Amino acid sequence: MSQKNYQDELIPAFTPLLAIKEASRCLLCHDAPCSQSCPAQTDPGKFIRSIYFRNFKGAAETIRENNALGAVCARVCPTEKLCQRGCTRSGIDKPIDIARLQRFVTDFEQQTAMRIYQPGRKDKGKVAIVGAGPAGLQASVTLCNLGYEVTIFEKEAQPGGWLRHGIPEFRLPQSVLDHEIARIIAMGVNIQCHSEVGTTLTLAQLKAEYRAVLLTVGLSQGLTLPLFNDAGSVEIAVDFLQRASKANGNIAVPQSALIVGGGDVAMDVASTLKLLGCESVTCVAREELAAFPASEKEFATAQALGVSIIDGFTPIAVTGNKVTFRHVRLPGELTLAAGHIILAVGQRAGLEAFPDITSQRNTVETQHYQTTDPVLFAAGDIIQGDKTVVYAVKTGKEAAQSIHHYLEEACSC
Ligand SMILES: Cc1cc2nc3c(=O)[nH]c(=O)nc-3n(C[C@H](O)[C@H](O)[C@H](O)COP(=O)(O)OP(=O)(O)OC[C@H]3O[C@@H](n4cnc5c(N)ncnc54)[C@H](O)[C@@H]3O)c2cc1C
Ligand code: SF4
Repeated sequence: MSQKNYQDELIPAFTPLLAIKEASRCLLCHDAPCSQSCPAQTDPGKFIRSIYFRNFKGAAETIRENNALGAVCARVCPTEKLCQRGCTRSGIDKPIDIARLQRFVTDFEQQTAMRIYQPGRKDKGKVAIVGAGPAGLQASVTLCNLGYEVTIFEKEAQPGGWLRHGIPEFRLPQSVLDHEIARIIAMGVNIQCHSEVGTTLTLAQLKAEYRAVLLTVGLSQGLTLPLFNDAGSVEIAVDFLQRASKANGNIAVPQSALIVGGGDVAMDVASTLKLLGCESVTCVAREELAAFPASEKEFATAQALGVSIIDGFTPIAVTGNKVTFRHVRLPGELTLAAGHIILAVGQRAGLEAFPDITSQRNTVETQHYQTTDPVLFAAGDIIQGDKTVVYAVKTGKEAAQSIHHYLEEACSC
């Protein structure tokens, strides 16, 4: 991989000719398996057909009808597990590069200043959303289109959730996220930042003012491992990524780093460290390669940047900055030392502000997105299911529809 910077998007965009060439590889399947495998129903079968016929505007309309974060998903979806998995073209050579085509169309939409979303009617009453990550943002668009006046309360200084300070700039430029959010604000959605429910304002206040409240607070706290409590220089992965993102990559990096974990977050930390100049980056995962949790793209990027990835080892002892690992299946042990240790072992929700809702092991219990409190709904990472952006979009959209059905029924009683 040639010299790259933290701020440069690593995967290049398609030109119009390359996009049409890629779209022309599509076999135009009846009941397209790609469309059936997209959780957010972004309908790649349909938008690829539009690209093929040079109808880029129609392609953008198809994407936006179903996915308010189409430009983000185009950059971060683990497509090999989703839309591209069932692509019929795989039987001939390789699957269509759906994500890059989606990126081409949404870039075209932005470059030509298309305005697909129109301001909402706001004649159905007020709904509050807590958390401006992808689930809350998508829900706000669906509710707005259904006629509700929507306010999102966000504790941070800027909206976006993990899209803002989790996923690094070289995979998702902040400008792409800013444009997605600007489109949503232009529809009339009100986003109030610096508003943490539980401190700045209470859930009871929201319930008194709004017809329904949707919780999309995500898994905002990084987990640690007790084994590392007394280790030398240890940091939680999402704290490191936030620190790097808020400083635009202007942070001091150690000469060597050891990352514990093998998911997308671990790969993001590893690639970020490499791009910022850390000489030796080693990532140790408990999963073996056949069941590696990181997406193919993330894994390939980290490897291309020179990260050493060791699979199938779990930490058993820590002394200062030395960690001993044992193989999960075989008798082998391994001791590694590094200037800085970063733990990428998962995240948890902070639900202390919502003591009355039933939650178990990091998950809010819901029935059709409704919690045990009938005016309180939940979506995104805090409910059961996949923890990806495209799933947050799906659940945000479906939760908004569920709120609408509930409020319509409440009106007709
Ligand atoms: C480093 C990293 C890399 C990732 N990479 C990928 C990837 O490549 N592909 C992919 O599909 N997924 C990826 N994910 C997962 C993806 O980002 C999440 O699944 C998704 O962001 C979940 O969306 P959400 O809206 O449920 O929550 P979040 O994105 O967590 O947003 C929740 C929002 O709620 C706010 N909030 C929390 N509590 C309160 C409160 N009390 N009051 C007001 N606001 C509050 C938070 O500040 C935040 O803005 C990654 C995650 C991380 C951390
Ligand atoms: S939203 Fe994601 S999963 Fe769906 S078609 Fe687009 S890239 Fe594929």
